[in-house]
Amino acid sequence: MPAETTKRALITGITGQDGAYLAQFLLDKGYRVSGTYRKSATPDFWRLRYLNILEKVTLTCADLADFSALLEAIKSCQPQEIYHLAALTFSGTAFEHAVDAGETTGLGVTRLLEAIMKIDPGIKFYQASSIELYGEGGTQPLSEDTPFNPVNPYAVAKLYGYWIARIYRQKHGIFACSGILFNHESPLRGLNFVTRKISNSVARISLGLQDELTLGNLDAKRDWGYAPEYIRSMWLMLQQDKPDDYIIATNELHTVRELAEKAFETAGLDWQKYVRTDEKLMRSTDVNFLQGDNSKAGDNLGWQPQVKFNQLVEIMVKHDLDRWQRHARGEAFPWDIQP
Ligand code: NAP
Ligand code: GDP
Repeated sequence: MPAETTKRALITGITGQDGAYLAQFLLDKGYRVSGTYRKSATPDFWRLRYLNILEKVTLTCADLADFSALLEAIKSCQPQEIYHLAALTFSGTAFEHAVDAGETTGLGVTRLLEAIMKIDPGIKFYQASSIELYGEGGTQPLSEDTPFNPVNPYAVAKLYGYWIARIYRQKHGIFACSGILFNHESPLRGLNFVTRKISNSVARISLGLQDELTLGNLDAKRDWGYAPEYIRSMWLMLQQDKPDDYIIATNELHTVRELAEKAFETAGLDWQKYVRTDEKLMRSTDVNFLQGDNSKAGDNLGWQPQVKFNQLVEIMVKHDLDRWQRHARGEAFPWDIQP
């Protein structure tokens, strides 16, 4: 049995990339960790099983649209800290899920804040905000003071979440922090995102399982960081004396072209022989150039990224290569490929 003094945390979206890494991080810190999942959850909780922590966390079924289920999840966990990570996260299909984005990614934040007000206003709250709040344009690099300019329903829903958390902080004194995180990636990243799409395809191409890789906008630029480092910043925000909002970024920009080049190079291949582009994968409203300024997080939280672009790409490609090689040897292990 955990001691009375054991800290308790509730993670919404524990089945996702960040949720799984955060659960592992908090378990290592001695927290008792609970998490919410939805009925249609990521198959077999593969990320939690991959990190070998499925048996160490308590799971409760609670969709973001279901207020009473969220209330029950908080009541049964009695957390001192809630990390709200659940959301519809793939902005590439944002316009196809516009209403759902508002209902869950947006209003889900208010439901959680209202539940906190009812159960214990002393619960600290982390809101997973996003670089997408800024949209295109504006002064670069982006800081916490740069005006927002969302360009798709995902970003608008995230902006709503950011503001409502801020309003509950100001009006009701809730310890609510928003982490405005730039793209962060890992071997646990979903296959629909460009980094993992590339690392997975490079692994398959290098083993002769795939002939080519089709991508969209090769000129798009992103500031890509390493997810396990980024989740530490979430915890740091909730350990401060005062709640605040922080940009979390590497401050480095790279193009999708550079990403493909580095990924193929890691496997000893020339990217130009395998990559082709398809207009259908170009986004009508893509955000092309987003560079962050993480100095507030550095000054106040002591947070600095260690893993930069080249190392991140190597980690991801080597991981997917290893998975496909193990798979070829007949090994069974949790991952998101359905053979
Ligand atoms: P992810 O891997 O896609 O995980 C999203 C999680 O949300 C999953 O656990 C998913 O559950 C859950 N979810 C989705 N809709 C839900 C609903 N209606 N009710 C309950 N749960 C729901 O995303 P991530 O990369 O870990 O990102 C974590 C958070 O950070 C998200 O809020 C995301 O928008 C934000 N963020 C991420 C990045 C990034 O680069 N990764 C950057 C900025 C902000 P299922 O398993 O059922 O699908
Ligand atoms: P996002 O920043 O959350 O949209 O993350 P993504 O990984 O989905 O996309 C990052 C950038 O890569 C965007 O500018 C996309 O337009 C670009 N991109 C180019 N080709 C692809 C592709 O095949 N898939 C995805 N997901 N993005 C691509």
